[in-house]
Amino acid sequence: MIHPDAIPSLVFADLKGNIADFSGLNMAGMSGGQFFQPTPEDLIPLPEGSELFVLPGRFPIGFTPDTGEALLLEESPFHRGAPVQAVAAFMSPAHTAIFNSAYQTHDAHAPRLPLFAYTAVGWHQGRFWASAFRSDPDKRQDSCQFDQAVIRRKTKKKLKEFSDNRLVQHLGKCCLTYGCPAARNYFLDRWEAPLPTSPVCNARCVGCISLQPAGSCSASQDRIQFVPTAQEIAAVAVPHLQRAEHAIVSFGQGCEGEPLLQAQTIAQAIRLIRKKTSSGTINLNSNASLPQAVALLAEAGLDSLRVSLNSAQEIYHSRYYRPVGFNLEDVKESIGAMKRDHRFVSLNYFIQPGVTDSPEEFAAFSELVETCRPDLIQLRNLNMDPEWYLQTLHFQPSQKPLGMRTWLRKVQQKFPALRLGYFNPFLD
Ligand code: SF4
Repeated sequence: MIHPDAIPSLVFADLKGNIADFSGLNMAGMSGGQFFQPTPEDLIPLPEGSELFVLPGRFPIGFTPDTGEALLLEESPFHRGAPVQAVAAFMSPAHTAIFNSAYQTHDAHAPRLPLFAYTAVGWHQGRFWASAFRSDPDKRQDSCQFDQAVIRRKTKKKLKEFSDNRLVQHLGKCCLTYGCPAARNYFLDRWEAPLPTSPVCNARCVGCISLQPAGSCSASQDRIQFVPTAQEIAAVAVPHLQRAEHAIVSFGQGCEGEPLLQAQTIAQAIRLIRKKTSSGTINLNSNASLPQAVALLAEAGLDSLRVSLNSAQEIYHSRYYRPVGFNLEDVKESIGAMKRDHRFVSLNYFIQPGVTDSPEEFAAFSELVETCRPDLIQLRNLNMDPEWYLQTLHFQPSQKPLGMRTWLRKVQQKFPALRLGYFNPFLD
């Protein structure tokens, strides 16, 4: 992996969003609300397909190269009195953050940041560097894999072919309007395809990407408004599982609530699918709230379950999920239901530097892995304003975080058989 030969400079933006670098300050990173200077090993070239965001009402923070002192940049170093804004990188899929962008909110009326991950970024030797590592070699969502003209042509053709299938029509919007990589891969007949089913959920996650209360930030996509029939689901899944390379179909998408609330329909669909093909992997992404529903689906033929989890500590899990009628023990019981049926289980572990790698969280995470024995940890960045997330958890760090690279090394040493990645695996 390429690393810079020196600490990159801080980058900032003017009020028009023009981004500049300032060599008078080194870039900084934020972890659990504390500021750190990244080392070259913490930095990679900004991955292709990533985006740069300007953070309104937030001043950037950097470190003085000589003394290593953390400093707030309140005005442009090039135009006296000109206001500045912090900058962050929203990295392309398969990359996990080591540090968040270092900023301080100075405007009490600053807008809430939308539901993305805000990774630290700097400038050096003519390029941007992000504080991250590639967590999965799989290229299924790399931006270079997507040709918009081909996508549009193939999507239009399938929308006509399946004009009476509401689920295909819904995925058409996900593909052409939201640019969902999973929906695109469905219309391109390859890899992992989405099967959203549930308009409702039994949690009220603070950072829910499909439903946000009025006055909060906007949800990233609208929720599906109907429950597809088992026949509509099978009509999408069977041809994909039969034809696609490394075929996976996944219930539980960003454009829906909780699929376990539609377990009867999904179980019927899985039985229909497996009557027609034994190919590929049938996966379900879920908050794993209902162990009995999970047992029903495992019995019906579900191959893998991906459990979304912000923390292995009950208090932080409940402060984020705001669950209705379930708790972390139910989640663990759901994992047990899959493992008893010898099925595959992933944890979709929301990475938040400073929280994930806090010693208390590492201890709780290790205990959950020891007792529940998941097969894979997906290292996905939590798409939420870090300051808002820490407030939501009432997060008061009692110790310095381990550091995400140290955390990764300790996980690999403690659980050598545990797979680490980013995507749902094809189980052949
Ligand atoms: S479990 Fe999923 S759909 Fe439900 S509130 Fe949380 S993020 Fe939203």
